[in-house]
Amino acid sequence: MSQRSYTRSQSLFSRAQKSIPGGVNSPVRAFNAVGGHPVFFTSAKGAYVHDEDGNAYIDYINSWGPMILGHGKQEVVDAVKEQADRAFSFGAPTELEIEVAEQIRAMVPWLDVVRMVNSGTEACMSAVRLARGYTGRDKVIKFAGCYHGHADSFLIQAGSGALTLGEPNSPGVTAGTAQDTLLAQFNNLSSVVELVSNNAGNVAAIIVEPVAGNMGCIPPSEEFLSGLRNLCDREGIVLIFDEVMTGFRLSPSGAAGRLGVEPDLVTYGKVIGGGMPVGAFGGKRSIFEHLAPTGPVYQAGTLSGNPLAMVSGYHTLKYLHDHPELYSHIDETTEALHVGLAGIMREKGMPFQINRIGSMISLHFCENEVVDFESATAGNNDSFKHFFHHMLNNGVYLPPSAYETWFISDAIEQAEVDKTLEAVRSF
Ligand SMILES: *Cc1c(COP(=O)(O)O)cnc(C)c1O
Repeated sequence: MSQRSYTRSQSLFSRAQKSIPGGVNSPVRAFNAVGGHPVFFTSAKGAYVHDEDGNAYIDYINSWGPMILGHGKQEVVDAVKEQADRAFSFGAPTELEIEVAEQIRAMVPWLDVVRMVNSGTEACMSAVRLARGYTGRDKVIKFAGCYHGHADSFLIQAGSGALTLGEPNSPGVTAGTAQDTLLAQFNNLSSVVELVSNNAGNVAAIIVEPVAGNMGCIPPSEEFLSGLRNLCDREGIVLIFDEVMTGFRLSPSGAAGRLGVEPDLVTYGKVIGGGMPVGAFGGKRSIFEHLAPTGPVYQAGTLSGNPLAMVSGYHTLKYLHDHPELYSHIDETTEALHVGLAGIMREKGMPFQINRIGSMISLHFCENEVVDFESATAGNNDSFKHFFHHMLNNGVYLPPSAYETWFISDAIEQAEVDKTLEAVRSF
């Protein structure tokens, strides 16, 4: 395929840098991890996105997951347009908010109540505050390589010595905040047990992506999640599943439903808004009784539950609920991609690992199994960079980082998988 032109995207990026920090409103979009200029988009429909230079791409980002139905799903678009005519926002209660909460409860049977917020970051930040308020304890355990948004207490990296206190991994996060976040290894239960016993009676919560999706896709081992569940039960620790990525994607009841382990609190984002800025945290009523206005743990939001966002989320969730066959479709599409990709990589003799669960998949250019942060960072980033740009030039839009999961939407069919594999073949 001939080299595509990106001249308009390039000039827009130069222009953007004059008035937007780094030219983007979220860092991964700047292509720092893969080099080159970011692509600026204009429109999207179904499986495809279109850029400013008139190039079309098969979309494997899907807004980092929310567009699970494919872009521009008519039912959702119509409902949003109708709501836009009626009202944008009241900052006061609406029946629609109840319908969203009831829809979520219909899909996630163990969830009693759910509070809407505006992003996954807010959801995780609020869930941790609630867990701390509920338990009266300060420490939180997270896993290296898991992402829970950009609240201070999550921007923590391993300190010297693998299992010591965390250190800030961003300037601006105080040492005081960092000391309350403890860092364990994903898929390594004994690393968690050790932290809990070293901090006996002080751990409020363990927060985990039940399927890690922010260091590539890393499914949990058989005993990892159930081990966390048992540990939390024994120690009175609140188990938080961050299902911002996996919620309503891996099954109607998320990773928890698919893998059969129930947390105490869950956080949502991405799919829950169908492309609008929405997050939520939910779980057991006994814990939520501690949240304002019923209880003393404060949490609020001017635009939380606003009708425009709710209508997009509601119709996305309702479609998923009414079409359970969609989950086997996206899973099978992803499997076809996996099988095809693995075959071609093997023929090429390149070292690779493919991790997949449901409609989440990632390709790592390394020999060894990718099971945690350390093994994820062993991948060859130069190979990924070349691969990314080759795919981009051949009309396949992958996440611009080796540590991101690819998301398959219901609009991607075998024809798109075939085109994608054709592009891989010429790599
Ligand atoms: C995307 C993501 C977040 C943050 O959500 P935002 O809406 O970007 O704030 C949190 N947790 C996980 C697992 C995510 O994938």
